[in-house]
Amino acid sequence: MRVGTRVITLGTAGGPVWSADAQRTGIATAVIVGDRTYLIDAGSGVGRQMVRAGLPFGSLRGIFITHLHSDHIVDLGALMVFGIMRMPIPPTHRIPVIGPGPRGVLPPVSTRGTTSVTPVFPENPTPGMIDTVDALLRGFATDINDRLLDSLKPTPLDWFTAQEIQIPAALGFHPNDNPTPEMEPFVVFEDDAVRVSATLVKHAPMAPAFGYRVETDDGVVAISGDTGPTDNVIRLARDADLLLHEALDFAWVEEQYERTRDDSARAVRDHHYSSHTSPEEAIRIASEAGARQLALHHLVPRGAARELWLREADSFAGRFLVPDDLDVIELRDALSSGPASSRVQSVRTE
Ligand SMILES: [Zn+2]
Ligand SMILES: [Zn+2]
Repeated sequence: MRVGTRVITLGTAGGPVWSADAQRTGIATAVIVGDRTYLIDAGSGVGRQMVRAGLPFGSLRGIFITHLHSDHIVDLGALMVFGIMRMPIPPTHRIPVIGPGPRGVLPPVSTRGTTSVTPVFPENPTPGMIDTVDALLRGFATDINDRLLDSLKPTPLDWFTAQEIQIPAALGFHPNDNPTPEMEPFVVFEDDAVRVSATLVKHAPMAPAFGYRVETDDGVVAISGDTGPTDNVIRLARDADLLLHEALDFAWVEEQYERTRDDSARAVRDHHYSSHTSPEEAIRIASEAGARQLALHHLVPRGAARELWLREADSFAGRFLVPDDLDVIELRDALSSGPASSRVQSVRTE
């Protein structure tokens, strides 16, 4: 029997994940259609998580980056450089690495700022996907050329091609003045197995920032990316079998920042409020979209007890999930709509 489309939550934490007791690793999600793997984001540990999930690197058919915050791309270089060591020789296909184009202008300085700040790398201070991949691989040039010349191995350039999402001009997008115009998702990638659409989400000052909708013969999975509540995600997840939405606990934000008078900490607090979503709001968005399953991921704080995220689970009519890393979610489960707040079954390979 053909195996249906499934999602593996490779990493479910938002933000940096270095700590001795990290239960959740960096954000990364695999959508698996037959023998093809499509990856959304490449957070810390993504390559190891693919191995643990039993996903062959040669099955990769596309990498989709929601936005260029480091927690979403920090292991993209490792994925390309180490990944090809587990791939067929000679290379069998090219893997697009699809993501935002250059921001174009710097974000405004936080109104919390009291001293002047000077941007780094002024010649190209806001690179997009193409320059980011180029810079990552150039940093490994000594290694790549060593393996190419001495061991006659393929290089990451034989496998990976960076592509930048062209935002339709009619939307009037501007990274500072209009980062999240009201819009319908538009197609950014299509092959025999999937059609992937993108929408702009609300993650200022990071812009452009995208959510993705992956359509297969078995159903639809939508991934919010990092975002404050926005109607664009409602449209992105319209009638989806699964919405993976980011979630942040705002009580934690208050605990972190309420006592500080530090400008930087207050600026981060401001960012959380404008650019992330509470579990309650994620439920509202999934409900308005008519999504049949809602899974919270990119959890901040990553160590919070499951009960915290499940607090309002009963208010979602569909299946509500708080997956661990490496959980498997079948899109078809949505058809038999399980009880609210049921846990997905974990099928770890180690
Ligand atoms: Zn993030
Ligand atoms: Zn982010």
